[in-house]
Amino acid sequence: MEKQTIKDIDLSGKKVLTRVDFNVPLSSQDPNEDIFVTDDTRILAAIPTINFILNEGASLILCSHLGRPRSANDTQFAMRPVALRLEELLGRPVIRVNEVVGSEVSEAVDKMQAGQIILLENTRFLPGEKENDPDLAHKLALLADVYVNDAFGSAHRAHASTEGVARAMRAKGGPAVAGLLMAKEISALSKAVLNPAHPYVAILGGAKIADKIILIENLLRVADRLLIGGGMANTFLKAQGYEVGDSLVEEEAIPEAIRLLETESEKILLPVDAIVAGEVKADTEVAEVTIGDVPADKMILDIGLVTIQHFNGALQGAKLVVWNGPMGVFEIQRFAAGTNALATILAGLASQGTEVIVGGGDSAAAVAQAGLAERMSHVSTGGGASLQFLEGKSLPGIEALDDK
Ligand code: ADP
Ligand code: MG
Repeated sequence: MEKQTIKDIDLSGKKVLTRVDFNVPLSSQDPNEDIFVTDDTRILAAIPTINFILNEGASLILCSHLGRPRSANDTQFAMRPVALRLEELLGRPVIRVNEVVGSEVSEAVDKMQAGQIILLENTRFLPGEKENDPDLAHKLALLADVYVNDAFGSAHRAHASTEGVARAMRAKGGPAVAGLLMAKEISALSKAVLNPAHPYVAILGGAKIADKIILIENLLRVADRLLIGGGMANTFLKAQGYEVGDSLVEEEAIPEAIRLLETESEKILLPVDAIVAGEVKADTEVAEVTIGDVPADKMILDIGLVTIQHFNGALQGAKLVVWNGPMGVFEIQRFAAGTNALATILAGLASQGTEVIVGGGDSAAAVAQAGLAERMSHVSTGGGASLQFLEGKSLPGIEALDDK
């Protein structure tokens, strides 16, 4: 699974097509408004790769998808706001084109000098992107001498600009390698998949079990303990026969929860108390109750203090911790205490040398909201991609790159 990176190949004087993840939040979905980027985290994450390639004396053709356009007519998903933000961040011009491939792109690429940057239009403006159309992949590969994939967040999808183009580049004799962000994600997440260190404690939370059954099973196979909080815990508590009131519960997943509790009971640690409320609202009345005393008309919206102490105890001495899924409805401050406490515990462990890996879109947002992202060993930038990686699956966008 060791893949070549931009550090392994000669980039000088080359034209380098780089797939980045510029799928950023935008200020509006109305094409008639002045649309701007509201969170440039993903653009910032690609800057080291961009600068590395330019400093090697290459010219750079960037491409990404943005949002979920149905066609090129959905101009509210055009790359213009991204290009403007990228120009600001780099302090250098970014040449914009109005298509993904075609004569306008080919002419601009032909004229390109070392150190210049072209940003292609939204790859999802073409239906061939999601269909992984070999013709589109081939046309993309023809633009450049080298293909670089730095879009870890899209690596779980076999699309023309992630998977097809890598194979097309190899077919014409050029390298297809990982960018710096992609390489960092692979090396950090691999620590949890290939020969993980022990004691290994996994923590799961968030909303839905159904999305994460394979992840739960894989973590139970490799980890020594599995701490479960968040909405996911409710289904397990109900499976144990507890009253969970109006809490979020997945009835369909109860048989699976019962099975896991029977076969893996010594590994699984569940909440023993909770913050409950009648409504998911900032100004609602809350109470802290023992599991078993959850009123029938209330919802479990965060883990309680004793649970945090239990989780803290189980985490001490861990060499490796993987965390996916918030412990409560962290978007509302009142129900963020459990998630914030866990983030603080993990930051402390990381500073003592524990490898702490955080994956999942909302989990990354929660850690950032707590101001502790920098303190973790690794916070993955890929939501679905990081979960698939942790499930032990191979990701097509990574698989397609050249082996070391
Ligand atoms: P990630 O994106 O990190 O994989 P998920 O998408 O699975 O995480 O879950 C995040 C969501 O789970 C958040 O929106 C959060 O509000 C919700 N959540 C966490 N705990 C609860 C709970 N007890 N009840 C309802 N929703 C919850
Ligand atoms: Mg999520």
